[in-house]
Amino acid sequence: MSPRRPNMESSIYLGSDGWWHGRVTMGVKNDGSPDRRHRRAKTEAAVRRKVKELEKLRDEGRAPKAGRIPTVEQWMETYLNTIAIRTIKPRTWDDYWSKTRNDINPHIGKHRLDRLRPEHLDQLYTDLLAQGHAPSHVLKVHRTLSRALKIAHRRELIGRNVATLVDAPSVEETEANPFTQEQAKDFLKTAAKRRTALRWGFGIGLAVRQGETLGLRWSYLDLDTGECRTEWQLQRLTWRHGCADPHACGSRRHRFDACPTDCTRHRSYKRGCPKPCAKNCTKHASTCPERKGGGLVFTRPKTKKSQRPLVIPPPLIPLLREHKARQEIERAEAGDAWEENDLVFARPDGRPIDPRDDWEEFKEILAEAGISDRRLYDGSRHTGGTILNELGVGMRTIMEIMRHTHLSTTRRYVKSTDPLAQEAARRIGEALWPQAGKTETRTETTSTKDAQARRRRRIK
Ligand SMILES: [Zn+2]
Ligand SMILES: [Zn+2]
Ligand SMILES: [Zn+2]
Repeated sequence: MSPRRPNMESSIYLGSDGWWHGRVTMGVKNDGSPDRRHRRAKTEAAVRRKVKELEKLRDEGRAPKAGRIPTVEQWMETYLNTIAIRTIKPRTWDDYWSKTRNDINPHIGKHRLDRLRPEHLDQLYTDLLAQGHAPSHVLKVHRTLSRALKIAHRRELIGRNVATLVDAPSVEETEANPFTQEQAKDFLKTAAKRRTALRWGFGIGLAVRQGETLGLRWSYLDLDTGECRTEWQLQRLTWRHGCADPHACGSRRHRFDACPTDCTRHRSYKRGCPKPCAKNCTKHASTCPERKGGGLVFTRPKTKKSQRPLVIPPPLIPLLREHKARQEIERAEAGDAWEENDLVFARPDGRPIDPRDDWEEFKEILAEAGISDRRLYDGSRHTGGTILNELGVGMRTIMEIMRHTHLSTTRRYVKSTDPLAQEAARRIGEALWPQAGKTETRTETTSTKDAQARRRRRIK
């Protein structure tokens, strides 16, 4: 026999109003007073059924908490601003906010959190894909929602996390579009004429992220042992409004009509015409007089593994020494204007390179080298991993070099297993800089001229 729980007993009675009433004790409220809930129906059988349902939810621990349940929109804000902000990386937090603002709130923001159903998420993902978003984008939306709902569930605001009941959008692995070895060499040859040449060699040769490359400091680089640590990464975070009415704040910058297809106004915009604003647009925070949280910042790398040292491909070492010498000259020339950040790759006055400018330069080099358009990530990190694989370096080693936490990530590049990271670094060095030590890399050699001629022929 089950133990009696007199305090948890429900009561059912016929009221003087002609309705049947049921009262169920759920537990205690936040303030300590008993949480009694009310159900009402026309017949005794109906109210009994309702009471049973509520008791079942209570006994299974799935009953929503007492008090007002927030909407999805309200919860996302609470979750991001008071919970996630303490636990996740600024860049990720930024990204969660952007997915919330642009994708989650406009589609499902008004649902009460406990009334959100798996079908709503299915519809959201279907709509986003139909709008032309990449599956990887939709997957990020899913992750954002899923984490927010997980906390809501843990805090008993909802009885279940509906995101776990929906299949995450699958991301095609072919979305990665790295350079081939040939393209990587062409890219580096084209980049060699630039002041930032080594930044690109470093990004591909060590398969590091943009932020890690731009945040690299001399003090974490040991040119004698050929090791480097990427302790910080440089990132550009999106500004947020600090004002009370973000929509009104951006009123001068809202544009509600799409550009004509032959628009000339935004010809110089590398990312094309800006998209028209949503009706209740709250963007344009960069011009908010009380803007906060944005700009260039140094953050700790994404994973613990990212803090482990990397082996620099040997041909890069003398190039780094040269680069350092050139930077000394720039420092002397800049004089008082020099801003010391100890950065390996900096602007001529020592200030950090804006990731946006870096991105634009990547696109410029692509165009110059006659390589088809792709993402910066594909052109550096993915390329590094892919070339190592092509060179026959094993999966475990590539995983170490790319400092992946999970082998499954590395498997996107690799098939088998094998030996040492030193050897791998030597090989990628040889593959990308076969002439290292023999020719000055920054001067144009006959082979680069030949390559350019070949490319010109190819374009025609
Ligand atoms: Zn706007
Ligand atoms: Zn335009
Ligand atoms: Zn504002």
